[in-house]
Amino acid sequence: MAKITEKFSNLLKLYKTTKIKYPHLKPISVAQWILESGRGKSELAQRYNNFSGIKYRTELRDYARRVRVKVKDGSHYYAHFFDLESFIAGYWANLARKPYQGWQKAAKTPADFIRFIGPIWADDPEYVQKVLTLLPEAEQRLGLFSAKPKSVTNLNLPNEALQERLLALFNEEPFIRRLRQTMFGHAFGDLLADEALAAILSQNKSSPAVACCDGDEDVEAEPRPGPRSSRPVKPASRYIPSPNWSSRNGVRIDHIVIHYTVSTTLESVIAQFQKRTGKRRSAHYIIGRDGRLVQMVRDTRKAWHANGKNSRSIGIEHVAMPGQQIAKAQEKTSIALLRWLMAEYHIPKANIIPHRCVPRNTRCCGDLFAKYKTGGDPYSCRVQRDALQAWLSDHGIE
Ligand SMILES: [Zn+2]
Repeated sequence: MAKITEKFSNLLKLYKTTKIKYPHLKPISVAQWILESGRGKSELAQRYNNFSGIKYRTELRDYARRVRVKVKDGSHYYAHFFDLESFIAGYWANLARKPYQGWQKAAKTPADFIRFIGPIWADDPEYVQKVLTLLPEAEQRLGLFSAKPKSVTNLNLPNEALQERLLALFNEEPFIRRLRQTMFGHAFGDLLADEALAAILSQNKSSPAVACCDGDEDVEAEPRPGPRSSRPVKPASRYIPSPNWSSRNGVRIDHIVIHYTVSTTLESVIAQFQKRTGKRRSAHYIIGRDGRLVQMVRDTRKAWHANGKNSRSIGIEHVAMPGQQIAKAQEKTSIALLRWLMAEYHIPKANIIPHRCVPRNTRCCGDLFAKYKTGGDPYSCRVQRDALQAWLSDHGIE
């Protein structure tokens, strides 16, 4: 690979660990910086931390000051970014300006992104193609095609012999290894590649609810018959990713929080959890009145449904309006899902709680289990929790 400056290399190191809203666009932005800065060699990059030729605008005042620089076609005010961190933040802040409005809608793939912003960014009719040509180099520089991918250590298969054979294949067979890198490593790196592969392979054990790429809808997966033991099987679900999640930061799952949606349709809840603006919310699962199950956040990630308990819990939403009890088909799915989650994460029955019991001003989960309610304030934590527990007992969950 061509040489890059030390500063550019530092920028890439920093960028790798910087959280940005659209991580799949990291490589394409780097491709643009490679082009604009001549791999870090331009004067703007070396003197002013400006790796993409960004002109100064007042909107950038938190990240940069104004500097007059003479370039080929005269002299202009450019952004002199305070440091590398400010450049990264400033690069994305610059896209919030008017001429680029709407780019997020075109951000599904790196190519769509650059086709949208490229013609606004530069006059050169070949600009987009030039950036795209540099994409593989950018990916490589970000380490997305590391020479030695991390080993897959556990495919979570019930059959140990099969697990061993497949692990050997995945870690030692060069062709498969390459496939892992190109199929999944493209935008997400090896970590997610492993996650995706494990999910595909665990179809053996239960139905997967995982797609390879956020933004894509996964096809419905039918549950396979489980092994002969009485291990619960995950009910069939459809995976429609929500962008509203964060890391559990290593916290173990030990609670399940039960919610109701205060809405009439499954679709409206899905749309709500897909919103990137306003009050951003999500839950791992939503169960429709008709029993349909949709997963929106992977179990391994933290969904945003019960402030204070999110890191350690799985959130399940039930479509229902106030006054409505859980529907028959919905109940069937919910019980099956709970059985599977309890077994999968070793969650005791007592740790299945209504949202109301997570200190919060809410009536959730409303009247889902009204039939089991005893005296007292029907929306108090105690009454809600006892009703939920009675419902679980009634369905053989102990
Ligand atoms: Zn709730």
